[in-house]
This record gives sequence, structure tokens and C-alpha cells, in this order.
Amino acid sequence: MHGDMGFTVVANWKMNGDKKFVSQFVREIEQQQPKWRHLEVVLCPPQVYLDFTAQSIVSSSIKVGAQDVWTDDNGAATGNTSPMMLADLGVKYVIIGHSERRLYNREDNLMIVNKFRSACAAGLIPILCIGETAFAKENGRTLSTLFNQLEIILEFLKEFKSSEFIIAYEPLWSIGTGIAASYETIRCVHDFVKDIFLQHNVAVRILYGGSVSEMNIANIAAISSVDGVLVGGASLSFPRFFEICSLAEGCN
Ligand code: PEP
Repeated sequence: MHGDMGFTVVANWKMNGDKKFVSQFVREIEQQQPKWRHLEVVLCPPQVYLDFTAQSIVSSSIKVGAQDVWTDDNGAATGNTSPMMLADLGVKYVIIGHSERRLYNREDNLMIVNKFRSACAAGLIPILCIGETAFAKENGRTLSTLFNQLEIILEFLKEFKSSEFIIAYEPLWSIGTGIAASYETIRCVHDFVKDIFLQHNVAVRILYGGSVSEMNIANIAAISSVDGVLVGGASLSFPRFFEICSLAEGCN
């Protein structure tokens, strides 16, 4: 059981899909969703399909999330999307600091906290991704890496205690590899992160992301400190995503 807030299943479609894919997926998930009493499903399409996705959804329990956001509400930032614009479309969540953006777009902790701040100010709920590389893991530096990624957010929270946000633990070596973190690692990391925030009187929700599939979701969702999952590859196939949601619902 994961308490009143239920269990969150986020589909991160990354740079995949088209209007036909979105329409079909939304139609199918809306048919199934009434069976799920404890799940909140969040669809994160590519930025260009956000409005189309939001317009296609009828059910209030399916939410839309963006995969990124810019640091300011408007101005000279060619090609970027502001938090105010996302809120205007009815977007509820925004993924911030995904490892692919940290890597390909060279996003550092400072840029990430600025995005986090602007998302909170616009009333969006940031889903902040943190995770260690294989190198850090092999050198026993998992927890210190995560702490380093969280430190700047903890500073921000001293000022803005009431901000609503979610953390996603996504080990880099697990994303897209088919190798999920062990259940023991997930439990240990989630407890570690929850403890850090509890020391600041914040009860944080934490999702696990990294090769979540229909094979491992039941065991992952059974971990009490896992409040949801962020699903990449397996969210591109509706039958797989449906199976993941159904199994997660069964654990809640
Ligand atoms: C992700 O990219 O956030 C992710 C978790 O991907 P996958 O499920 O494919 O590992």
C-alpha cells in the first residue's frame, strides 16, 4: 500500500510517437483506466504534441507531463518552452534534469534548480531526475552522487518549503539497458533520499525509473518507499504499458 497519494505511473515517450500514436494510446488508456483505483497515470509526450495530448484526454485521472521546461516565463529564448506556457496547456507535471538532458544539453545543477524554481512558481509539479553513472556505482559513490544532485534543491526548499515536487531515482546505467536496479538498491536509495528530505521536514514522493517492465514492476511496486515509476521504452507499447499499470494497481 502506498497511502492516500496512490501510485504514479509516468510514461516518458522521449522523442518518439506521432499524432496517430498519441490518439490511439489515449483512446486505449481511457478505456482501461476506470479499472485502476490507486493509480495516477501521467503521459509525457514530446513537447510538440503536448497540446494535442492534453486535448485528446477526457478523463481527469490521466495527467499530462512535459519532458523539459525553460527557466523563464517569456523572453529571448529561441526554441524553448516556458513553464507558464505549459501551465496554459493544462500540463500538470514536468520532468526536470533527465540524464539525457544533462548529457546532450549539458544541463548542470544550477540550470536544473532554476528550471525547478520556475516550474514551481508556475504551479507545475517538477519530477526531478537524479541518478549515478556506472562508474560512480562501481566506485561506491552512488549515495554521494545523489546527495550532490539534491543539495541545490535542498537549498531552494529552505526558502520555498511548500513547493510540491517529486524525485525520480534513475540510475544512468539502467536507463534503456534492460537492467533494472536490484530491489535492494532501490529500497536503500529511496530510504536514503526520503531520510534526507525528512531532515528538512519534507515528506517527498519518489519514483523509480530504469528498465521498468512488465517483468519487474510487481516487485518494484511492492517496495513501500517506491511511490511510482517512470517508464521509458516500455511505455511506447500500449500492451506493455497496460500490463505495467495493471500489475502496479494489483500491488496497491
Ligand atoms: C527513462 O528514460 O527515464 C527511462 C526510465 O527509460 P527506460 O524505462 O527505457 O529505461
